[in-house]
Amino acid sequence: MSSFRRRLTLAGALTAAAALIVVLFVQGRVLREDTRAETRERLRAEARILAEALSVPWSVQGPGYWVDDLVDRAGRSTETRLTVVSMNGAVIGDTSASDEALRAIENHAGRPEIREALSLGEGTNERLSNTTHESQLYVAVQVRHQGRLLGVARASLSLARIEMRARELQRSLGLALLSVLALASGLAWWLSRPLAEPMSRILEGAQAMARGDLGKRIREDRDDEFGQLARVLNQAASGIQEQFAAATRERARFSAVLSAMEDGLLAVDHKGTVLLANDALSRSHNLTGASGTHYLEVFRQAEIGALIDQVLTSGERRTAEIDLSGSGRSFVLVGVPFPASPGAPDGVVITFNDVSERRRVDRIRRDFVANASHELRTPLTSIRGFVEALEDGGLEEQETAKRFLSRIRANADRMASLVDDLLELSRLESGAQPPSLESFDCGAVASDVVASFAGIASRKSIQLNTALSSTPAVAGDSDRLRRILEHLVDNALKYTPDGGRVTVRVSPEGKGAVVAVEDTGPGIGPEHLPRLFERFYRVDTARSRELGGTGLGLSIVKHLAESMGASVSVASVPGQGSRFETHLPPAG
Ligand code: ADP
Repeated sequence: MSSFRRRLTLAGALTAAAALIVVLFVQGRVLREDTRAETRERLRAEARILAEALSVPWSVQGPGYWVDDLVDRAGRSTETRLTVVSMNGAVIGDTSASDEALRAIENHAGRPEIREALSLGEGTNERLSNTTHESQLYVAVQVRHQGRLLGVARASLSLARIEMRARELQRSLGLALLSVLALASGLAWWLSRPLAEPMSRILEGAQAMARGDLGKRIREDRDDEFGQLARVLNQAASGIQEQFAAATRERARFSAVLSAMEDGLLAVDHKGTVLLANDALSRSHNLTGASGTHYLEVFRQAEIGALIDQVLTSGERRTAEIDLSGSGRSFVLVGVPFPASPGAPDGVVITFNDVSERRRVDRIRRDFVANASHELRTPLTSIRGFVEALEDGGLEEQETAKRFLSRIRANADRMASLVDDLLELSRLESGAQPPSLESFDCGAVASDVVASFAGIASRKSIQLNTALSSTPAVAGDSDRLRRILEHLVDNALKYTPDGGRVTVRVSPEGKGAVVAVEDTGPGIGPEHLPRLFERFYRVDTARSRELGGTGLGLSIVKHLAESMGASVSVASVPGQGSRFETHLPPAG
């Protein structure tokens, strides 16, 4: 049985029981008084009948024996005690005594009801009887004959009997009321059935909703309050479901944005407890399980604490910069107030923008400008020196003047080639001229380049050869490969001592090809190899300058190769020679 129905039944039964108790209590008192009043009436009637029966001239019969006789006979058929008292108070008839016993009964002249009857015509009293030793109700009336007062007739009944009658009446009333109670409970139980069923259905649905099953719907097939309640609950569930879905979507979007962010993001509440640290921040700061801890437990940098304090105290946007000592990376931090939780003071959200790469590029650019200026300054200083020397009388000696002029020219050439190289590098870096990608035979390009350097090689007595294996066609820009090989062969001829050997070897590599420029020159120490392709990097700066080098050749080579999908590498054994390789991808 559902507790709702049990309660309804209980309420019905309790209401009926309360009504019954009130009825029994009130009615019990009324009953008792009614019974007593009724008994008094009956006793009065019986006393009157007796007085009527005794209304004869007593002297004719002689008082005494016939009165008691009459009283005994009359009292036999009733529970009532009847007593007759003469004018002087003597008891001359009584249902409870005869003859000797009757004569032994004390004088009744002093009994209150007798006195009252003699003086007023009728008297009543309740008391303990001296004769029967029971609590009695007495009613006495005058006995008259032709207007003459003869004595008093009295009827009395034990109060215990009256009480007993009242109790009997009360008991039957109680039994009747108990039946009513049982009937009321049964009715309440029966009537509660149509209420309990929809109620338990609604309860079941509401409990499912409360457990989080927001897809649950309650049947709305009734038009009464239960139907309305079901409709309201269903509408509430739909509303919550929609809001929940919207919140879930919002959260998914938010977390997608957070995890897609390149910048780190940290949110803390006003006490400094970490509420959120996104993936980027966890990666860059090696954080695990930062949420819920105090930010000081995971961030050692004082700048972060200072920034949080500034934002918390000012309530405004603040920025800071930090350098991570371990990884050598730099971050720009932006902190803004953040509504952490409802009712609480604002927290702070900080973004960590990794500016290490920007700093590195800035540094490279600064270094580049410094290097380029320096490279240009050196020949310029020389030119100025020779010009001054010529002005100071060098012109007078023709031989010296010629020598100075040729040095001026050499330095001017060096400046020109430096500017050419810088321009080429800048063009390549800007991507202004895209490579024309084609399919071509790299062996043919290698042969062309070797042929164009034949004169220079023979002047230095260097054997310059090609070694061509058959290779598949490669993809790239043949003109750029030509410029790559020109730089590499130029270097090889520059650094290889007279009488040495330079070979341009073309061979297949995978499905593509590799073009290698090998020389028997001084080679390059392994410590230089990783930085060899950087701008202005030279193994021996003085020697490079002396040979007219700019320090930009290999950097241009690397850019050219990468611009057309090729790559370059170097292998070298100091004292034996170097080998610069260009790896070309296959065509198609
Ligand atoms: P440079 O104009 O000085 O030759 P590069 O960028 O072409 O500049 O070359 C960088 C440095 O690499 C050179 O200064 C030189 O020290 C070294 N180098 C390049 N090619 C060779 C080679 N074939 N043999 C030995 N050293 C070389």
